[in-house]
Amino acid sequence: MDAIIRVAVTGASGRMGQEVVKMVLADPALKLVAAIDRSNQGVDIGRIVGAQECGVIISDDLEGTLRDSQAEVMVDFTTPHSVLSNTETAIRNRVRPVVGTTGFKPEDIERLDKLCHEHETGGIIAPNFSVGAILMMKFAAQAAKYMPHVEIIEYHGDQKLDAPSGTSVQTAEMIAANRKEFRQGNPEEKETIDGARGGLYSGFRIHSVRLPGVFAQQEVIFGGYGQTLKIRHDSYERAGYMPGVNIAVKRVMDVNGIVYGFEQFLD
Ligand code: NAP
Repeated sequence: MDAIIRVAVTGASGRMGQEVVKMVLADPALKLVAAIDRSNQGVDIGRIVGAQECGVIISDDLEGTLRDSQAEVMVDFTTPHSVLSNTETAIRNRVRPVVGTTGFKPEDIERLDKLCHEHETGGIIAPNFSVGAILMMKFAAQAAKYMPHVEIIEYHGDQKLDAPSGTSVQTAEMIAANRKEFRQGNPEEKETIDGARGGLYSGFRIHSVRLPGVFAQQEVIFGGYGQTLKIRHDSYERAGYMPGVNIAVKRVMDVNGIVYGFEQFLD
């Protein structure tokens, strides 16, 4: 039998973090050894259901806790402001990061990859851990070969910090890899209200909708002669990401450097 993997969770009292704690506690192949969070009021232990009774270290001191708990993997669902330094701390302490927090720039990922190689370890960064969302991205990348006129509309709750979403950026990167770069639309086009046409990525547009009541959805719309094709994914609850996170926690043990995107583990 494989050894049990010792897991620390950062952002443990956040909405995704709480799901990760539940998932780790429910899997006998994993051991929750630390729950780390940060809050103006201190760690909200009441929200880290089940961890306290299992003798888990609950703290807001990342580096000390990673060391004391002898964590092997750190799962991070925090904020775009914190994730970079959390991930660097994990790598420097040779704890393998599995990161779901969004908001990375390509140069951040390059830097973390280099740091992993320096410390002879590996990590996974995935803007989306749900299988349906990965398929949406793959199908969109395939369609872009045949229908290169495309726009992305992503919908999230109004409290989301980053725009566009990490999923839409990853979708755009996958589309751009399959589509010869060109600037879509009328070259004379003028916005009478700033931002009306959305953000420009590699010649096509990404639109971010932010509304209360919305969870996470994305549509990729292709236009051709006399036709449109829409590829749409809807997420309804956070638990839907956990099978993917569980696989990543196990697969990260064999990874060197940073693997970007959960799709690498699907086939
Ligand atoms: P959330 O409810 O706001 O939770 C974030 C938690 O992290 C909060 O408790 C926050 O504490 C804590 N935190 C912030 N900085 C920290 C630090 N330095 N160390 C430890 N804890 C820290 O947010 P969420 O809805 O769970 O989402 C978290 C992230 O996951 C977002 O970036 C979101 O886009 C992403 N996400 C990714 C996926 C995926 O599949 N990859 C799916 C869903 C969401 P405070 O409240 O004190 O700031």
